[in-house]
Amino acid sequence: DDLESTYINRTATSKERYDEIQSHVPAGVASTYRAWDPHPFVVDRAEGVHLHDVDDNSYLDFDMNNGAGMVGHTHPAVTEAIKSQLDNGTLFTHPHNLLAEAAKELKKRWDPVDLVRFTNSGTESTMHAIRTARAYTGKDKLLKIEGSYHGVHDAVLISKSTPKGKLGHPERPAKVIESDGVPEAIADTVEIAPWNDLDAIEEIMRNHVNEIGALIVEPIVMNVGVTQPYKEFLQGLRELCDEYGIVYIFDEVKTGVKVAPGGATEYYDVEPDLVAMAKSIGGNYPVGAFGGREEVMRTIENGAAHFGTYNGNPLVLRAVTTVLRDVLTDDAYQHVNDLGEKLAAGYEEIMTDAGITGHVKNVNSQGIVHFTDERVNNYREYLEHIDEEFHENYWFAMLNQGVLPHPHHASQQWTISVQHEEEHIDEHLEAFKNIAPRLA
Ligand code: PLP
Repeated sequence: DDLESTYINRTATSKERYDEIQSHVPAGVASTYRAWDPHPFVVDRAEGVHLHDVDDNSYLDFDMNNGAGMVGHTHPAVTEAIKSQLDNGTLFTHPHNLLAEAAKELKKRWDPVDLVRFTNSGTESTMHAIRTARAYTGKDKLLKIEGSYHGVHDAVLISKSTPKGKLGHPERPAKVIESDGVPEAIADTVEIAPWNDLDAIEEIMRNHVNEIGALIVEPIVMNVGVTQPYKEFLQGLRELCDEYGIVYIFDEVKTGVKVAPGGATEYYDVEPDLVAMAKSIGGNYPVGAFGGREEVMRTIENGAAHFGTYNGNPLVLRAVTTVLRDVLTDDAYQHVNDLGEKLAAGYEEIMTDAGITGHVKNVNSQGIVHFTDERVNNYREYLEHIDEEFHENYWFAMLNQGVLPHPHHASQQWTISVQHEEEHIDEHLEAFKNIAPRLA
């Protein structure tokens, strides 16, 4: 309670503004996940690695726009690139050179990607990848992993955050529709599988061999707290998809250009047929893309719809080419990966010294602390082992220290941006050290 009252006292103006926003905008936010109790702080501006709220608090930002900000806020090179485009037109609904330039940059990073189409968000990228896969195979069903998040179109709003009582059989997870307004009939077009269980997945594929045309996975389940695949799991899925005639889709919206230059595809050296991308490829500008094997992508020329007024607009593609060519360089990866290691090691040390039970789950610049000895390997283990209330206390205590450790939920992770420096890692760890005795 006093964590919350400290926060409330620090954010009085935010509360006033938030009340005003709520009278015009449902839940006072532009994406429902962003509403939390007692009230979210209201942002005034962002710069580098800091967010500033309307009460003039500043937050050292490791949320980085839910992972979209690997370049940090207001990166000078990206801002300069955007400015250079402003006077030359921000939207062309005709072909232009940046389409090829940006596509070439993505192809350099992803070996399996021969052709690319641009979208405006991760949601659109997964939606179109799934449609393309269904069109290519002529099979209607999607196979999706329990607990994974792929955006907000109907087909993927199934069994993302199934409550404990509705999980069903571990090898045959229940289909639970996440949102009112998604027709029951949509659930008939989706099958749900457990993460990290090849045998269970093969069984489902075998039972629906004439129906399942697409498998979508987060190759690291970032929306279940950086949950990595078991060794050989992703390659095992590759082989099963070949055997059962299924298009294998990596949702790299959160992993792409972050866990490695070529995302999880490079990190695990596995070849999906299609890749959905968004977030950090655009350096905080709204853009997505999907791409993959030529034969599958050519379906778009011949039956599978992909349209959109703002797709591939020159403004965001300027950001994409600058981010991929000039900002996310080899040196930049070395820098964020080193800082990621330092942050993880620092957390482990402080927990040991303070007698806090916990461990860090991290892959390079992405990570999270879990306050349990149990290593979570799938959604059900997350539900079983993560104490959300404890995690929330940690999160609020960090916020009161001026550090935003990750987006507001225990299932989310930090993003270390190219603008973070050692001193920011020290500051993050100092804040954790200050709250550790109370958490213990
Ligand atoms: N896929 C994954 C793995 C995501 O984490 C997200 C968003 O968090 C999406 C898709 C949806 O992306 P967007 O919010 O840009 O629609």
